[in-house]
Amino acid sequence: MTDEIAVPANLHADRPHPARVYDFLLGGKDNFAADRAAAEAGLRANPNSRIPPRENRAFLRRVVRHLAAEAGIRQFLDIGTGIPTAPNVHQVAQEVAPEARVVYVDNDPMVLAHARALLTSGGQGRTEYIDADLRNVDALLASKELRAVIDLDQPVGLLLIAIMHFVGDDDDPYAIVGRLLDALPSGSYLALSHLTGDFDPGAWEGVAAVYRRSGVTMQVRSKPQIERFFDGLDMIEPGVQVLPAWRPDADSGETPTDTQVSVYGGLARKP
Ligand code: SAH
Repeated sequence: MTDEIAVPANLHADRPHPARVYDFLLGGKDNFAADRAAAEAGLRANPNSRIPPRENRAFLRRVVRHLAAEAGIRQFLDIGTGIPTAPNVHQVAQEVAPEARVVYVDNDPMVLAHARALLTSGGQGRTEYIDADLRNVDALLASKELRAVIDLDQPVGLLLIAIMHFVGDDDDPYAIVGRLLDALPSGSYLALSHLTGDFDPGAWEGVAAVYRRSGVTMQVRSKPQIERFFDGLDMIEPGVQVLPAWRPDADSGETPTDTQVSVYGGLARKP
């Protein structure tokens, strides 16, 4: 297990990090005792806590496949990538379009430590990893690494999958998304998913409190608050939905209840 080897101090193994808690909930091994303790406290607050990450990865696969196969998107900006877990965005996109290019962004040192697993692009495509904070939009958009892989004159698939609930209102999440979209040309897409307390507010308040005690902001939002991220864009059918209802495919297994999933997602096109 990861704890038994010497851990670099910058990983802050003594306190939980969202990417590692998420990894634990998905059944991964890239997490420490503090992450597992937080995940278990989260599971006590909401016993369904393992379902959102699983449904979220399934949504990510469906939405990236849709963008590559139906919308012709060939470049993706995936912010809040998380610890690599197969298939990653480039594997899904390159299965459809081998020339697809992906820039991954996360601010967690554990994700950085595993970034090599994201740099396994097929020969015709390309991937890059940037260790950066989403809240620093201008620096991210100006970064040489991003510009080397993504042509901002061509449509981009912007992926904000299960990240915006880690941006509290104090950091003005709508302005952050707006500035990212401003930098992308017409024909670009925003795919976004976000935890909600709409179906079980008490359980999710409990999970947010677990994060808060560890110094991590986690804020669930209502359906109208989540729809607001798509303001000014053309929603793709079926609009913002609880994830399993968003274009289910043959791989979609048994459908959990809305309460169990508690994540909304949607896809929209910049006019
Ligand atoms: N998108 C992935 C992982 C979601 S977990 C998936 O859907 O499976 C959320 C990720 O967002 C974590 O890896 C966390 O480190 C990252 N994150 C949270 N706040 C961030 C910020 N301000 N800047 C960059 N990454 C952030």
